[in-house]
Amino acid sequence: NRQWRLASRPIGDIKESDFEYREEVIPHPEDGEILVRSIYLSLDPTNRIWMSDRPQYMPPVELGEVMRGLVVGVVEESKNPKFQPGDLVSGALGWQDYALISPQNLLYLTKLPQPLTVPLTAFLHPLSFIGCTAYFGLLDIGKPQPGETVVVSAASGAVGSLVGQIAKIKGCRVVGITGSDEKCQLLVDELGFDAAINYKTADLIPALAASCPNGIDIYFENVGGEILDAVLTQVNLNARIPLCGLISTYNAQELVPGPYNFGQILMQRVLVQGFIITDYLQQWDVAFRDIGEWLQEEKIKYTQEIVAGLENAPKAILKLFDGDKMGKLIVKISEE
Ligand code: NDP
Repeated sequence: NRQWRLASRPIGDIKESDFEYREEVIPHPEDGEILVRSIYLSLDPTNRIWMSDRPQYMPPVELGEVMRGLVVGVVEESKNPKFQPGDLVSGALGWQDYALISPQNLLYLTKLPQPLTVPLTAFLHPLSFIGCTAYFGLLDIGKPQPGETVVVSAASGAVGSLVGQIAKIKGCRVVGITGSDEKCQLLVDELGFDAAINYKTADLIPALAASCPNGIDIYFENVGGEILDAVLTQVNLNARIPLCGLISTYNAQELVPGPYNFGQILMQRVLVQGFIITDYLQQWDVAFRDIGEWLQEEKIKYTQEIVAGLENAPKAILKLFDGDKMGKLIVKISEE
């Protein structure tokens, strides 16, 4: 059973040496347990938070522990009447080939609907906590109204690309901020965004002013830092900022100052609301129902970058921070 364990807490950027490779004997289930073979592993910015011991919304991964990660997999052996070999499941099974699940931990495992009507990887993206994050952050906190302008950062990523498409469904003008011309093109040509800005080459404040002639009503925040500051200069009265993530700060070794344009939150009476998607756990089914319908109606598309091989996970996770990937980042561990 190949595994990646947390070897050290990263200082600054994640290094491959922060993970330790191990091979252990594949376990077999005892009474009540099941053995799951991992097929796909989700790599997420929050993995960086779990690797650190800063204040966070759940316990960090302990040093020496198998790295935590969301997986979709298949039941290989079962000593539990509720699961049969061949059942597809998702859960936090970690960076490893096989996971033995105890009866208590079965509570945290989700059985996927079979036969599948969508690709299996959809259960790590639109039909996972990622889809819920876009859905509740935008709809519950952002409360978009037809004709309003929505700006989203990390717009070509897993969450951002869904936020923009849901905002279009709700009748908004949508502007994405992302890190390359190719990604901007994807947003406008494939995903239906009205405009996209490459924050690495554009002068952000004039670019936002040009793309948002009626100002900004909702800013779905994934990044923080200079992008947040630039957006604050253009927010409308009673704008809403669902604060989903601050990826530009996750590798920082010292506290990041700002936003400098904080005064705009006062003058424009802006609502800034942080949220963690587990807050909405009781309502996830509502999101999955709507997103499932939008997928069927082809109102939502999703792009994914699938890296082959568990052995490459420590290298692949760096792509979240250097932006060298398109859409949702996933590692393929074994065949479906
Ligand atoms: P993405 O797929 O968007 O990947 C991260 C992207 O962020 C990169 O591709 C890169 O895209 C961009 N990025 C990285 N570093 C920087 C930087 N310094 N400045 C600007 N952009 C940067 O990840 P997710 O969609 O999974 O996550 C997006 C955000 O949502 C994260 O902040 C994450 O922590 C948060 N999140 C929060 C949840 C919650 O419950 N609150 C749940 C899930 C996610 P680019 O090419 O555009 O630079």
